[in-house]
Amino acid sequence: MSEKFEQIAQVVRDHQRFAVLSHVRPDGDALGSQLAVGLSLQKLGKEVRIWNEEGMLDKYRFLPRAELLTKPPAQPEDVDVAIALDTAIQNRLGTTVAAIKSAKLWVNIDHHPSNPGYGDIVCIDPKSPATGQILFELMNDQKLPIDSAIATNLYVAISTDTGSFQYPNTTARTLDIAAELVRHGVDVGKVSQLTYENYPRRRIELLRELLGTMRFDANDRVASFSLSLATAKKLGVLPEDNEGLIDHLRAIRGVIVAAFFEELADGKVRVSMRSKSEKVNVCAICEKFGGGGHVLAAGARAKGTLAEVEKKVLEEVCHVVGRSNS
Ligand code: 5GP
Ligand code: MN
Repeated sequence: MSEKFEQIAQVVRDHQRFAVLSHVRPDGDALGSQLAVGLSLQKLGKEVRIWNEEGMLDKYRFLPRAELLTKPPAQPEDVDVAIALDTAIQNRLGTTVAAIKSAKLWVNIDHHPSNPGYGDIVCIDPKSPATGQILFELMNDQKLPIDSAIATNLYVAISTDTGSFQYPNTTARTLDIAAELVRHGVDVGKVSQLTYENYPRRRIELLRELLGTMRFDANDRVASFSLSLATAKKLGVLPEDNEGLIDHLRAIRGVIVAAFFEELADGKVRVSMRSKSEKVNVCAICEKFGGGGHVLAAGARAKGTLAEVEKKVLEEVCHVVGRSNS
């Protein structure tokens, strides 16, 4: 990794205008990583654009300097370097790519094992629980600026992608880094409250609806629920409202796979999946439906009605769970 970090630091030294991008339907790792890199580059005197197709989500507006992250402009702009963070396939960068007129170099920093390695400088560490962790290693190794705002963004990135330091991807190194970030000025109590105890009432009303559709398959080893467009409309649900709700299914004793189906306006269904066993690889299941992700957390957008996709996907999940003896 150190060699990759050296290459990235060289790119930073040699160029002036940067665009920092991440995936559509961003999560805490995407947005926190984008702001952390953007702020560090700014401290080095660089000209930085921080773009996400959806702009800053309301729920992450507490991130330090959140106002710097915007939707991409309608007219393309010139930059020297584009940096893609936490984005397994390039088309998940959405409309941000069209906003870049020319970039001499593409840098790809990610932790998804399914990332094919697009771009000129590729830094992928599938062992890292969050892109934010790779970025800390990079900044630390190459002595790039880290202040309390940057540290807080990295902390939220790592905290959200590890389920608040609970998932098995959390290592001693992750906890060492978290401690280091706290030394850089993260206020753990305040940040945790803003991240995990600050949901709009709408989200819990959504959870009530989802639990009404909950079903169990494969002898209670598979739990799922679904969200129709009609229900989403009734409650005024925003895409960001459902991040993490699948954890309620994962938290049930005996459940190996949790699945969440969300009807989208474009005739597709968003599938979100979690596994509690290394023997059940939900990334492989999601790849069958055109998606990807990690062994224990993956997703896809499958064509079909809610009922069709639910049936097809649950059949496949039950098949894999049955074969795994989990
Ligand atoms: P989530 O269920 O939180 O949306 O996503 C879990 C993981 O699966 C994330 O790491 C995300 O990158 C990946 N993922 C979710 N949806 C898709 C998708 O449509 N395509 C691909 N390739 N990966 C996805
Ligand atoms: Mn991530």
